[in-house]
Amino acid sequence: MQVYRFEADALNALIATLRERGYKVIAPTPMDGAVVLGEITDAGQLPRGYCDEQEKGVYRLKKTDRDAFFDFNVGPRSPKRYLFPTNHVLWRSRQENGRLEIYSESDDEKPFAFLGIRPCEMKAVAVQDRVLSKGPFADRIYSNRRQKALFIPVDCTRAGKTCFCTSMGGGPEATEGYHLALTEVIDENRHFFLARPGEENSVNLLECMQAVPATAEEIKQGRDLIEKTAACMGREVNTAGVAEMLAEYRDHPHWEEIGKRCMNCTNCTMVCPTCFCFEVEDHNDLTGQNTERTRQWDSCFNLSFTYQHGGSVRHTNKARYRQWLTHKFSAWHDQFGESGCVGCGRCITWCPVGIDVTEEIQMFQEKTS
Ligand code: SF4
Ligand code: SF4
Repeated sequence: MQVYRFEADALNALIATLRERGYKVIAPTPMDGAVVLGEITDAGQLPRGYCDEQEKGVYRLKKTDRDAFFDFNVGPRSPKRYLFPTNHVLWRSRQENGRLEIYSESDDEKPFAFLGIRPCEMKAVAVQDRVLSKGPFADRIYSNRRQKALFIPVDCTRAGKTCFCTSMGGGPEATEGYHLALTEVIDENRHFFLARPGEENSVNLLECMQAVPATAEEIKQGRDLIEKTAACMGREVNTAGVAEMLAEYRDHPHWEEIGKRCMNCTNCTMVCPTCFCFEVEDHNDLTGQNTERTRQWDSCFNLSFTYQHGGSVRHTNKARYRQWLTHKFSAWHDQFGESGCVGCGRCITWCPVGIDVTEEIQMFQEKTS
């Protein structure tokens, strides 16, 4: 595969070209003390000179003395927020003079160009594809947005303390689904990007950045950075036999112990890039004439999630945590032929009581052996 190189300053030309071609550019940007995905119009909005510090229940954004644009790991938002919106009106109705009109809501959102998302997020899009667009019942909103989207991930050249993408096949190098994959390289004298056009590359973006074929030495610089990142992953999971172990250990006493710590706050499911549960609600206005049906994210940690004629099926903390963990690492294999986890570490960082999936799985493995 031909690898190209372009100078760091050319990012602005890339963003301008994407916008000219009608894309809404969604990229990491510092906001409210975190690097989050948001719409940008200029490279100056990227988190240049920032890095993050993450641990169980801890996230801190820091300034660095480096000039890098992409020196951080994942923040709380992922592409899921855009491809599978948090809240969406499905239809509206109006009743007047004995007539009821129903209006189906069209989704006229501009196509998204995701710039600077991480390889684990790219992998999470592939996981959601299997759930939301490749099964027998494709989700109309997701499929429409996904089909029009353009993906330009940036390989990770720094591993976070809660990351375990190497265990789950999610990174640190983008390997699938992208249109253009970038690696940021900074040495004593230069700051440039390596670019690998993907199989799905349908647009010629390299020209606008005046990209040229990279030398063998430049390619090696990028490869060394990715290998170094893979070697210092913050966490790891030995996935061998985990799916079978969790399926078998439904009644293990350790679930009770986790249930005492879990607050059922739903944070882990909200930040997880692969969780896809939603609920549907109808709202009337005070006149009773106007109604709208909306869809919003839901969580298996909510008591109402399994409410059926008079009660919830999973009425304990233990049952709800067990559902989440066993779905991600066990039942997902039965349903979709792969794990539901890409190892991004978000559920560890954003759990207010510091529950860590990697530790809990290890705990079961130790109790098993
Ligand atoms: S389960 Fe946790 S680590 Fe895995 S993809 Fe979801 S948020 Fe990331
Ligand atoms: S595991 Fe942590 S983040 Fe998830 S619901 Fe429980 S307390 Fe909240």
